[in-house]
Amino acid sequence: MRVAIGQLWQETNTFNPLRTTREQFEQFGVLRGDEILKRLSETNEVGGMIQSLRSWPERPELVGLVRLPAWPAGPATPDTVAWLLDEMLHALQRAVPVDAVLLALHGALAGEGEPDVEGALLQAVRRLVGPHIPLVATLDLHANITRRIVEVTDALVVYHTAPHIDVFETGQRAAAVLRRILVDGAKPVTAFQKVPAVFPAERANTQDPDSVSHRFRQQLQALEADSAILTAGLATVQPWLDVPELGSAVVVVADGDAARAHAACARLATDVWHHRRDYLPELVPLEEAVRQAYHEADGLVVLSDSADATTSGAPGDSTWVLRELLKYDWPRPALVTLVSPELVADAQRLGVGATLSRPVGGVRDHRFSTPLPVTAEIVRLFEARFVMNGHLARNLPIDMGPSAVLRVGKVCIVVTSRTGPHFAPELFRAAGFDPLAAAVLVAKSPCGFRAAYAPYARRIIVVRAPGCAPSDFWNYEYRHIPRPLWPWDESMEWTPS
Ligand SMILES: [Zn+2]
Repeated sequence: MRVAIGQLWQETNTFNPLRTTREQFEQFGVLRGDEILKRLSETNEVGGMIQSLRSWPERPELVGLVRLPAWPAGPATPDTVAWLLDEMLHALQRAVPVDAVLLALHGALAGEGEPDVEGALLQAVRRLVGPHIPLVATLDLHANITRRIVEVTDALVVYHTAPHIDVFETGQRAAAVLRRILVDGAKPVTAFQKVPAVFPAERANTQDPDSVSHRFRQQLQALEADSAILTAGLATVQPWLDVPELGSAVVVVADGDAARAHAACARLATDVWHHRRDYLPELVPLEEAVRQAYHEADGLVVLSDSADATTSGAPGDSTWVLRELLKYDWPRPALVTLVSPELVADAQRLGVGATLSRPVGGVRDHRFSTPLPVTAEIVRLFEARFVMNGHLARNLPIDMGPSAVLRVGKVCIVVTSRTGPHFAPELFRAAGFDPLAAAVLVAKSPCGFRAAYAPYARRIIVVRAPGCAPSDFWNYEYRHIPRPLWPWDESMEWTPS
């Protein structure tokens, strides 16, 4: 029994003007063949798949295809899309015959001219292996599930958590579904319901018992506890994706019982629709948010700058929050990040202890942010390299390249050469800080940061600022999305088909 395993992972933000290229995938770490099995067995979905398959009594032979990861950013160029498909399909061509294919995907990778890269990939994989080989894929909770993705796969296994703390377990769930199909002879039938709604991420916290997302997660887990259901998922798509099939979706895969799958799917889709307004976040205007943070004398205040969230594919060099932080005399460090290879190069040239005087930030995206002149002391040069755990990751190596810390009073600007998780406590530790001892920490993340900080923060404030990943996205211009779509069309009616 031969099972092929591969990964294609990136979340695209079509508002980010910086295109995603092959270089970003190669920089993050492309792995091929056996390297995948050797190096990823403890990491994320692929690790969950590998460990589960290795525990099967049938001892299946695992065949590593290719791992293609890149950090969230702008749309992939056409050459990059072609290269990604080529890499996976050539690897699969070399691997066949196989008895099954397991792919770890994001589900919201868009390219210029191809809004549904995972759909194109899965369709090509299906053509290559034929109609009878089980094809099971995992997806991020923020995937944009298209009809094509559903039609060409046997089962889609979606993360159940946001913050995404179940990525490894999602790989294990996918392997368990495959086992039901391959070993137990289950006959997967998928019910799929697109819900014409797009939700801000801030309140989609499945770990918060007061949140509606928590209840949906419990419903999904209850469905999966039923042996007639192979898997159930709710993908509340990420909003910054101007594509024709944008929308949330429910998928329920049953063993042979189509009516049961459809009933469960329609029930959950209706419930999600009825609770759509529960997802609307309370955003605090920027100036007010920073003023409130300043008046919290003790403990850590986390400011979520979701509009510049690098986890949502924003460029990460917005200066809006930095500008406000610089107006105050903070009692302890105020930590904020910027992506700027030019600024790091300047800091390296001048050296630790020198003073740097120049505009910073606001160049990766010109529409929503502008450069801010600062005079700062260069206090540290370091490599932003660490192993990340928690939201999005289990044992995931991250490398944001040469980096620097600049200080203006107590405001410390952590500058990295490349984008990455600009909320991760591991990043601030690599920069020489104890993030939990700061007066204020700016997390460029809409929700995932809560997994790291919610237990320790005195207060969390979600800031309203301009950017490529805004929470009030319906106020921005979209050209390709289907209409009507909530919340753009606030008063629309809908029932499942
Ligand atoms: Zn996500």
